[in-house]
Amino acid sequence: MPTFSSFVPPRRVLMGPGPSDVSPRVLEALSRPTIGHLDPAFISLMEEIKQLLRYAFQTENELTMPISGPGTAGMETCVVNLVEPGEKVIVCQNGVFGGRLKEMVKRCGGLVIPVDDPWGRAVDPEKVETALRAHPDTAVVAVVHAETSTGALSDVATIAALARNAGALSIVDAVTSLGGSELRTDDWGIDAVYSGTQKCLSVPPGLSPITLNDRAVAKVRGRKTPVQSWFMDLNLILGYWTGGAQRSYHHTAPINALYGLHEGLRVLAEEGIEKSWARHTANHHALRAGLESAGLTFAVPEAERLPQLNSILVPDVVDDAASRKALLERFGLEIGAGLGALAGKVWRIGLMGYASRRENIDLCVEAVETVVREAVTGMPHVQ
Ligand SMILES: *Cc1c(COP(=O)(O)O)cnc(C)c1O
Repeated sequence: MPTFSSFVPPRRVLMGPGPSDVSPRVLEALSRPTIGHLDPAFISLMEEIKQLLRYAFQTENELTMPISGPGTAGMETCVVNLVEPGEKVIVCQNGVFGGRLKEMVKRCGGLVIPVDDPWGRAVDPEKVETALRAHPDTAVVAVVHAETSTGALSDVATIAALARNAGALSIVDAVTSLGGSELRTDDWGIDAVYSGTQKCLSVPPGLSPITLNDRAVAKVRGRKTPVQSWFMDLNLILGYWTGGAQRSYHHTAPINALYGLHEGLRVLAEEGIEKSWARHTANHHALRAGLESAGLTFAVPEAERLPQLNSILVPDVVDDAASRKALLERFGLEIGAGLGALAGKVWRIGLMGYASRRENIDLCVEAVETVVREAVTGMPHVQ
């Protein structure tokens, strides 16, 4: 056997679509000693995590907890629990993640009623209204709040209200919006929301906070068919997360990851959720001013832009992959490539959570300006 050195990651500034830079407080919390997942001290931590998550989601929902798995696991948990075979599900798609929702609905035996909008645009609530009128027996409406693949923000308050008025449940993907964009689960009457840790919460990937209101829980409890996934069946998971002193073993919780989430949520609560939304917006405007004065153009219309994920058009003069490589190797800066319909056409610049800071904006503007100028002049920029 060769000998292996301990892995020491290179220094990076993470300004892509996630993961975002992790707060040093969270990294420190993650390294504390592991205790048992049924230890009374751990149970208290779980209770605090649920309270902190209710604050982040702006909800009083009893069923508010992290699923053990990345954002996709929260997505799948909502779909497998809330969709029964043969039910109609309106799935809004304006990017990659709406497409993923469609695939999951199909695998649960749901009938997808697609509401498609162009990549880079918000979901059009009028199309949802039309689809609900054409399919009054729709059981669920699923929509992505912040489409990270394109940088578009959709009006999920209006879409959730349309669903409710039509007697359907709403599922909202808030993986990238939680902590970064205004999201009011209770005021907006959203039935189920899932998120992730590695976007605006600045906690490493691997956990997926979810919240379900009483209407959604009633549906899960009253299902005619068993949930097709044992691991994600909320009827079983709740025995561990809400069992009080009688908590039963379901799976071994990712203990240290939960220390990290707890600390990340404390950071958010200390700042205040409204202040966090406002910081993301203010930093987006600062980034935008810098990039526009460097001659770059945004891909999403102004009124539909996400503050925490900025899609800019790749200038014709530059080589997409070579430029991103230069940003990573010379500036330690990670930004995201375009996905799907936008592959090769956009760069996705994240300003999420702990990474949404003035110094990162300055670094990013200078680095992007430099690689674009070098592409134009054909020579490396001399300082
Ligand atoms: C990142 C993301 C997901 C998936 O999260 P993973 O942690 O990668 O599984 C889902 N939806 C949206 C909008 C996302 O940005």
